[in-house]
Amino acid sequence: MGYYEFKINIADESKDALIEHLSANGCIGIVEYNGNIVAYFPDNIGINKITGFIQSAGQLLKRAGLDNRLYFDFTLIEERDWNESWKENFRPIKIGKKLAVIPPWEQMIKERINLVIDPAMAFGTGHHETTRTCLMLIERFSIKYKKERFLDIGTGTGILAIAASMLGYRDVIGVDTDPLSIEAAQGNIALNHLSNVNIKHGSISVVEGIYDAIAANLMSEILIEIADEIASRLDRNGYAVLSGMIEGQETEVIKAMQKAGLNVIEKVLDDKWVSIALIK
Ligand code: SAH
Repeated sequence: MGYYEFKINIADESKDALIEHLSANGCIGIVEYNGNIVAYFPDNIGINKITGFIQSAGQLLKRAGLDNRLYFDFTLIEERDWNESWKENFRPIKIGKKLAVIPPWEQMIKERINLVIDPAMAFGTGHHETTRTCLMLIERFSIKYKKERFLDIGTGTGILAIAASMLGYRDVIGVDTDPLSIEAAQGNIALNHLSNVNIKHGSISVVEGIYDAIAANLMSEILIEIADEIASRLDRNGYAVLSGMIEGQETEVIKAMQKAGLNVIEKVLDDKWVSIALIK
Protein backbone atom coordinates (compact mmCIF):
# COMPACT_ATOMS: atom_id res chain seq x y z
CA MET A 1 0.00 0.00 0.00
CA GLY A 2 1.20 3.51 -0.80
CA TYR A 3 0.23 6.91 0.51
CA TYR A 4 -0.79 10.15 -1.08
CA GLU A 5 1.05 13.19 0.16
CA PHE A 6 -1.00 16.36 -0.26
CA LYS A 7 0.54 19.82 0.01
CA ILE A 8 -2.25 22.23 0.84
CA ASN A 9 -1.91 25.97 0.83
CA ILE A 10 -4.47 27.70 3.00
CA ALA A 11 -4.77 30.82 5.21
CA ASP A 12 -3.37 30.46 8.74
CA GLU A 13 -6.76 31.10 10.34
CA SER A 14 -8.25 28.10 8.51
CA LYS A 15 -5.51 25.57 9.23
CA ASP A 16 -6.87 24.02 12.42
CA ALA A 17 -10.33 23.54 10.98
CA LEU A 18 -8.88 21.97 7.82
CA ILE A 19 -6.71 19.61 9.89
CA GLU A 20 -9.76 18.58 11.90
CA HIS A 21 -11.74 17.91 8.72
CA LEU A 22 -8.97 15.90 7.06
CA SER A 23 -8.35 13.85 10.18
CA ALA A 24 -12.03 12.96 10.37
CA ASN A 25 -11.89 11.83 6.74
CA GLY A 26 -9.19 9.21 6.62
CA CYS A 27 -6.07 11.39 6.86
CA ILE A 28 -3.52 9.53 8.96
CA GLY A 29 -0.76 12.08 9.41
CA ILE A 30 -0.43 15.83 9.16
CA VAL A 31 2.57 18.14 9.43
CA GLU A 32 3.13 21.78 8.65
CA TYR A 33 6.01 22.50 6.30
CA ASN A 34 7.02 25.87 4.86
CA GLY A 35 3.64 27.33 5.77
CA ASN A 36 1.78 24.56 3.94
CA ILE A 37 -0.18 21.73 5.42
CA VAL A 38 1.20 18.36 4.37
CA ALA A 39 -1.37 15.61 4.79
CA TYR A 40 -1.01 11.86 4.22
CA PHE A 41 -3.78 9.52 3.10
CA PRO A 42 -3.56 5.78 2.40
CA ASP A 43 -3.94 5.28 -1.35
CA ASN A 44 -6.68 2.68 -0.94
CA ILE A 45 -9.13 5.45 -0.04
CA GLY A 46 -8.97 6.46 -3.71
CA ILE A 47 -7.73 9.72 -5.11
CA ASN A 48 -11.18 11.00 -6.14
CA LYS A 49 -12.56 10.51 -2.67
CA ILE A 50 -9.55 12.25 -1.09
CA THR A 51 -9.73 15.29 -3.37
CA GLY A 52 -13.48 15.35 -2.67
CA PHE A 53 -12.77 15.58 1.10
CA ILE A 54 -10.33 18.40 0.53
CA GLN A 55 -12.71 20.33 -1.67
CA SER A 56 -15.60 19.86 0.76
CA ALA A 57 -13.40 21.49 3.42
CA GLY A 58 -13.89 24.73 1.50
CA GLN A 59 -17.62 24.71 2.22
CA LEU A 60 -17.09 23.90 5.89
CA LEU A 61 -14.59 26.74 6.26
CA LYS A 62 -16.99 29.13 4.61
CA ARG A 63 -19.78 28.13 7.00
CA ALA A 64 -17.41 28.65 9.93
CA GLY A 65 -16.72 32.18 8.66
CA LEU A 66 -13.10 31.34 7.79
CA ASP A 67 -11.03 32.05 4.70
CA ASN A 68 -11.88 29.15 2.39
CA ARG A 69 -9.36 29.65 -0.42
CA LEU A 70 -7.50 26.40 -0.77
CA TYR A 71 -4.84 25.23 -3.24
CA PHE A 72 -3.30 21.79 -3.35
CA ASP A 73 -1.27 19.27 -5.25
CA PHE A 74 -0.29 15.71 -4.45
CA THR A 75 2.16 12.89 -5.07
CA LEU A 76 2.06 9.17 -4.45
CA ILE A 77 4.69 7.86 -2.00
CA GLU A 78 5.92 4.29 -1.62
CA GLU A 79 5.26 2.66 1.73
CA ARG A 80 8.98 2.26 2.41
CA ASP A 81 9.57 6.00 2.44
CA TRP A 82 6.50 6.58 4.48
CA ASN A 83 7.22 4.32 7.47
CA GLU A 84 9.96 6.36 9.07
CA SER A 85 8.47 9.85 8.79
CA TRP A 86 5.16 8.49 10.04
CA LYS A 87 6.63 7.18 13.26
CA GLU A 88 8.63 10.32 13.95
CA ASN A 89 5.40 12.29 14.17
CA PHE A 90 3.81 10.11 16.83
CA ARG A 91 5.72 10.43 20.04
CA PRO A 92 4.52 9.36 23.51
CA ILE A 93 2.88 12.20 25.43
CA LYS A 94 1.81 12.71 29.01
CA ILE A 95 -1.64 14.18 29.53
CA GLY A 96 -3.22 15.39 32.76
CA LYS A 97 -2.00 13.96 36.06
CA LYS A 98 -2.08 10.26 35.29
CA LEU A 99 -2.49 9.58 31.60
CA ALA A 100 -0.04 8.97 28.77
CA VAL A 101 -0.68 8.19 25.13
CA ILE A 102 1.88 6.00 23.42
CA PRO A 103 2.07 4.47 19.96
CA PRO A 104 2.37 0.66 19.96
CA TRP A 105 6.05 0.74 18.91
CA GLU A 106 7.18 2.78 21.97
CA GLN A 107 7.93 1.81 25.58
CA MET A 108 5.22 2.33 28.23
CA ILE A 109 5.72 5.35 30.49
CA LYS A 110 6.20 4.29 34.12
CA GLU A 111 3.68 5.38 36.78
CA ARG A 112 1.15 6.53 34.19
CA ILE A 113 -2.00 4.97 32.77
CA ASN A 114 -0.74 4.17 29.26
CA LEU A 115 -3.27 4.41 26.45
CA VAL A 116 -1.75 2.50 23.54
CA ILE A 117 -3.02 4.15 20.38
CA ASP A 118 -2.22 3.15 16.82
CA PRO A 119 -3.63 6.05 14.82
CA ALA A 120 -4.33 3.80 11.81
CA MET A 121 -6.85 5.73 9.74
CA ALA A 122 -8.64 7.70 12.42
CA PHE A 123 -8.42 10.97 14.35
CA GLY A 124 -7.30 10.96 17.97
CA THR A 125 -3.69 10.54 19.05
CA GLY A 126 -3.84 12.97 21.94
CA HIS A 127 -1.66 15.43 20.03
CA HIS A 128 -4.59 17.62 19.06
CA GLU A 129 -5.71 20.28 21.54
CA THR A 130 -9.31 19.03 21.60
CA THR A 131 -8.42 15.41 22.38
CA ARG A 132 -5.94 16.49 25.02
CA THR A 133 -8.43 18.74 26.79
CA CYS A 134 -11.16 16.08 26.67
CA LEU A 135 -8.76 13.59 28.28
CA MET A 136 -7.82 16.07 31.00
CA LEU A 137 -11.44 16.87 31.82
CA ILE A 138 -12.52 13.21 31.82
CA GLU A 139 -9.59 12.30 34.07
CA ARG A 140 -10.58 15.05 36.50
CA PHE A 141 -14.35 14.46 36.50
CA SER A 142 -13.94 10.70 36.78
CA ILE A 143 -12.74 11.25 40.34
CA LYS A 144 -15.93 12.97 41.52
CA TYR A 145 -18.67 11.41 39.41
CA LYS A 146 -20.23 7.97 39.21
CA LYS A 147 -18.24 5.69 36.89
CA GLU A 148 -20.74 3.25 35.49
CA ARG A 149 -21.76 4.09 31.93
CA PHE A 150 -19.69 6.17 29.51
CA LEU A 151 -20.63 7.20 25.97
CA ASP A 152 -18.11 8.55 23.43
CA ILE A 153 -19.72 10.10 20.35
CA GLY A 154 -17.30 10.27 17.40
CA THR A 155 -14.76 7.92 18.93
CA GLY A 156 -12.12 8.09 16.13
CA THR A 157 -9.18 5.99 17.33
CA GLY A 158 -11.25 5.15 20.42
CA ILE A 159 -8.91 7.21 22.59
CA LEU A 160 -11.53 8.78 24.90
CA ALA A 161 -13.45 5.52 25.29
CA ILE A 162 -10.22 3.67 26.07
CA ALA A 163 -9.25 6.35 28.62
CA ALA A 164 -12.69 6.07 30.26
CA SER A 165 -12.33 2.31 30.62
CA MET A 166 -8.83 2.65 32.07
CA LEU A 167 -10.01 5.35 34.47
CA GLY A 168 -12.54 2.89 35.88
CA TYR A 169 -15.82 3.22 33.96
CA ARG A 170 -17.69 -0.07 34.05
CA ASP A 171 -19.35 -0.03 30.61
CA VAL A 172 -18.10 2.09 27.75
CA ILE A 173 -19.66 2.63 24.33
CA GLY A 174 -18.07 4.49 21.43
CA VAL A 175 -19.89 5.38 18.22
CA ASP A 176 -18.58 6.73 14.93
CA THR A 177 -20.10 7.34 11.52
CA ASP A 178 -16.83 6.48 9.75
CA PRO A 179 -16.18 2.74 9.16
CA LEU A 180 -12.39 3.30 9.16
CA SER A 181 -12.66 4.78 12.66
CA ILE A 182 -14.65 1.77 13.84
CA GLU A 183 -11.84 -0.52 12.67
CA ALA A 184 -9.17 1.68 14.22
CA ALA A 185 -11.03 1.91 17.54
CA GLN A 186 -11.58 -1.85 17.70
CA GLY A 187 -7.90 -2.45 16.97
CA ASN A 188 -6.88 -0.08 19.75
CA ILE A 189 -9.29 -1.65 22.24
CA ALA A 190 -7.62 -5.00 21.53
CA LEU A 191 -4.15 -3.44 21.87
CA ASN A 192 -5.16 -2.24 25.36
CA HIS A 193 -6.75 -5.61 26.29
CA LEU A 194 -10.09 -4.05 27.24
CA SER A 195 -13.26 -6.13 27.39
CA ASN A 196 -15.76 -3.49 28.53
CA VAL A 197 -15.56 -1.11 25.54
CA ASN A 198 -18.01 -1.61 22.67
CA ILE A 199 -17.91 0.25 19.38
CA LYS A 200 -20.96 0.83 17.19
CA HIS A 201 -21.32 2.26 13.73
CA GLY A 202 -23.45 5.41 13.62
CA SER A 203 -24.16 8.46 15.71
CA ILE A 204 -25.84 8.99 19.09
CA SER A 205 -29.13 7.67 17.70
CA VAL A 206 -27.75 4.10 17.63
CA VAL A 207 -27.36 3.93 21.42
CA GLU A 208 -29.91 3.36 24.12
CA GLY A 209 -30.05 4.06 27.84
CA ILE A 210 -28.70 6.70 30.17
CA TYR A 211 -25.03 7.53 30.72
CA ASP A 212 -23.08 8.93 33.67
CA ALA A 213 -20.68 10.63 31.28
CA ILE A 214 -20.86 11.61 27.62
CA ALA A 215 -17.89 12.81 25.56
CA ALA A 216 -18.25 14.30 22.09
CA ASN A 217 -15.30 15.82 20.24
CA LEU A 218 -17.11 16.92 17.09
CA MET A 219 -17.60 19.96 14.94
CA SER A 220 -19.90 22.68 16.33
CA GLU A 221 -22.59 22.08 13.72
CA ILE A 222 -22.89 18.45 14.75
CA LEU A 223 -22.87 19.24 18.47
CA ILE A 224 -25.77 21.64 17.92
CA GLU A 225 -27.64 19.08 15.85
CA ILE A 226 -27.43 16.41 18.56
CA ALA A 227 -27.82 18.68 21.62
CA ASP A 228 -31.25 17.28 22.57
CA GLU A 229 -30.10 13.71 22.19
CA ILE A 230 -27.02 14.36 24.34
CA ALA A 231 -29.23 15.86 27.07
CA SER A 232 -31.72 13.00 26.93
CA ARG A 233 -28.99 10.33 27.20
CA LEU A 234 -27.24 12.02 30.16
CA ASP A 235 -28.01 10.96 33.73
CA ARG A 236 -29.31 13.74 35.94
CA ASN A 237 -26.17 13.44 38.08
CA GLY A 238 -23.84 12.96 35.14
CA TYR A 239 -21.59 15.23 33.09
CA ALA A 240 -20.81 15.82 29.43
CA VAL A 241 -17.51 16.92 27.90
CA LEU A 242 -17.82 18.57 24.49
CA SER A 243 -15.00 19.74 22.26
CA GLY A 244 -14.15 20.49 18.66
CA MET A 245 -15.35 24.11 18.71
CA ILE A 246 -13.18 26.85 17.32
CA GLU A 247 -13.08 29.92 19.58
CA GLY A 248 -16.23 31.96 18.96
CA GLN A 249 -18.30 28.98 17.81
CA GLU A 250 -18.94 27.84 21.38
CA THR A 251 -21.56 30.55 21.92
CA GLU A 252 -24.00 28.82 19.56
CA VAL A 253 -23.21 25.40 20.96
CA ILE A 254 -23.73 26.59 24.55
CA LYS A 255 -27.05 28.18 23.55
CA ALA A 256 -28.24 24.90 22.01
CA MET A 257 -27.10 22.93 25.06
CA GLN A 258 -28.85 25.31 27.47
CA LYS A 259 -32.03 24.99 25.45
CA ALA A 260 -31.66 21.22 25.79
CA GLY A 261 -31.31 21.59 29.59
CA LEU A 262 -27.55 21.46 30.07
CA ASN A 263 -25.46 24.08 31.85
CA VAL A 264 -21.78 24.82 31.41
CA ILE A 265 -19.67 24.24 34.51
CA GLU A 266 -16.28 24.63 32.86
CA LYS A 267 -14.82 26.10 29.71
CA VAL A 268 -11.23 25.47 28.58
CA LEU A 269 -9.47 27.27 25.77
CA ASP A 270 -6.36 25.60 24.30
CA ASP A 271 -4.93 27.61 21.44
CA LYS A 272 -8.08 28.40 19.42
CA TRP A 273 -9.98 25.32 20.48
CA VAL A 274 -12.74 25.41 23.07
CA SER A 275 -13.87 22.50 25.23
CA ILE A 276 -16.74 22.66 27.70
CA ALA A 277 -18.07 20.52 30.53
CA LEU A 278 -21.79 20.51 31.29
CA ILE A 279 -24.27 19.09 33.79
CA LYS A 280 -28.06 19.00 33.97
N1 SAH B 1 -12.91 11.21 19.95
C1 SAH B 1 -11.67 11.35 19.22
C2 SAH B 1 -11.90 11.63 17.75
C3 SAH B 1 -12.58 12.94 17.44
S1 SAH B 1 -12.63 13.30 15.70
C4 SAH B 1 -10.82 12.42 19.87
O1 SAH B 1 -11.30 13.09 20.77
O2 SAH B 1 -9.67 12.61 19.46
C5 SAH B 1 -14.33 13.22 15.37
C6 SAH B 1 -14.83 11.82 15.01
O3 SAH B 1 -16.25 11.93 14.91
C7 SAH B 1 -14.36 11.28 13.68
O4 SAH B 1 -13.85 9.99 13.86
C8 SAH B 1 -15.60 11.27 12.79
O5 SAH B 1 -15.65 10.17 11.91
C9 SAH B 1 -16.73 11.17 13.81
N2 SAH B 1 -18.01 11.78 13.46
C10 SAH B 1 -18.25 12.84 12.65
N3 SAH B 1 -19.56 13.14 12.65
C11 SAH B 1 -20.17 12.26 13.50
C12 SAH B 1 -21.51 12.06 13.94
N4 SAH B 1 -22.50 12.82 13.51
N5 SAH B 1 -21.75 11.08 14.82
C13 SAH B 1 -20.76 10.27 15.26
N6 SAH B 1 -19.48 10.42 14.87
C14 SAH B 1 -19.19 11.38 14.01
